[in-house]
Amino acid sequence: MSYATTNPYTGEVLKTFPNAADSEVTEALDKAHSAFLSWRNASFSTRSKIMQSAADILRRELEPYAKLLTIEMGKLFSEAKAEVQLSANIFEYYARKAEVLLAPEKLPVASPLEGEAELVLEPLGVLLAVEPWNFPYYQIARIIAPQLSAGNTILLKHASNVPQCAAAFEKLMRDAGLPDGAFKNLYATRSQIERILNDPRVQGVALTGSEEAGAVIAAEAAKALKKSTMELGGADAFVVLADVDLEKTVKWAVFGRHWNGGQVCVSSKRMIVVDEIYDQFIDRYSAGVAELRAGDPFDPKTTLAPLSSKGALDDIRSKIEQAVAHGATATEVGPKVPATGAFLQPTILTNVAEDNPARYWEFFGPVSMLFRAKDEEDAVRIANDSPYGLGGSVFTSNTQHGKEVARKISTGMVFVNHPTMVKADLPFGGVRRSGYGRELLGLGIREFVNHKLIDVVDINAAF
Ligand code: NAP
Repeated sequence: MSYATTNPYTGEVLKTFPNAADSEVTEALDKAHSAFLSWRNASFSTRSKIMQSAADILRRELEPYAKLLTIEMGKLFSEAKAEVQLSANIFEYYARKAEVLLAPEKLPVASPLEGEAELVLEPLGVLLAVEPWNFPYYQIARIIAPQLSAGNTILLKHASNVPQCAAAFEKLMRDAGLPDGAFKNLYATRSQIERILNDPRVQGVALTGSEEAGAVIAAEAAKALKKSTMELGGADAFVVLADVDLEKTVKWAVFGRHWNGGQVCVSSKRMIVVDEIYDQFIDRYSAGVAELRAGDPFDPKTTLAPLSSKGALDDIRSKIEQAVAHGATATEVGPKVPATGAFLQPTILTNVAEDNPARYWEFFGPVSMLFRAKDEEDAVRIANDSPYGLGGSVFTSNTQHGKEVARKISTGMVFVNHPTMVKADLPFGGVRRSGYGRELLGLGIREFVNHKLIDVVDINAAF
């Protein structure tokens, strides 16, 4: 593993970074723990000012922050600016709400003899965040805004292809006024990560990434008896019922599958369309995908970004080949993508049978799997026939009925008539192989706190 900025559009290696020295890890742990000992006592208003300041800086310096995203992982510049804005919104959300979300709760005990019982929520200590490259800032904001607001301190291990984004966020928090040591980025090796997890001062780990990384880190955390949350992959269903507005639905389908170069955990990766309108849908969807324009992610006319790296491109090409070897049909769509840069030709996979292992994979790029469902019940069956359970959507003109169908889809988030709403004030997380735990809102801020009971009992009460 080596930390480097390689522009996925040009293929140029722009900057490399040495791995952290062991002494740097030792110092980061010492400082994070000593910062925790005072930060846990900082008032909500002190913490809130720092979170608000981080939001203000991001908004003020939106373009330079966004530029780094586009350079390091190839995100369209317009999407990069939206990510910076979203990250700012998350900081602001917790600046405003943390105190209320962590307010002590009086317990409605059955008898006064049980005492005056209340739950108080206290920070746990130093946490480790392991984050992926696909939303380099948003993923960090999703964990540090709530956890710093709760009084925890954090060490970050970011993906090795976004080292400058990681450093930019460390600087952001310093500039926002966060005490030294409370948030530190480390270009850590695998063995250093294991060491951090085993340090007694570290109380938990939040990982966002692949199932493979999740399984390793969750196992290491379990062995060290540390709490973990896992935000892993997904293969979200995009269910299309017979009564849809086809034009608008197709527009959302094309967007839902291809924003961020198709590299979103909640991308609409499986289009499941009822028989009555399947043929019309696939024609229009193919035409919509063919209109995408691959190119320079800084060019406002570009609508399809390159993949994040050459390695990611090789990986997805190999997955397509394997899908075809097992009987699927792969149809390449649209004008030829540029030969330089990590571009994948948008591809539609059909005839992905139940005995084709690819049916159950996550394709992290512009590859759409299309399924013809006999009827609505069959569409729900196909949607739930997945090892993943992250997000998903249902398109229908009858929104009340859409809600009923949404209840039948077994994932952490389902949207009616939208591919996915990623917002500061909506929770995020999944079930099954998509992981466990939730981020954002009160659910996220309460993942790494001690839910402590304090009960004041009459000394004369019976046992
Ligand atoms: P990844 O390869 O699992 O990497 C994620 C992070 O884990 C990186 O920082 C990576 O570091 C680190 N890592 C990987 N193996 C590790 C190990 N054995 N020990 C310690 N750290 C390890 O995932 P990715 O390719 O960056 O991201 C794509 C995946 O993330 C997709 O499956 C996507 O669906 C999922 N994702 C999920 C969510 C969600 O909220 N549910 C959000 C975004 C993405 P290195 O870069 O150094 O390998």
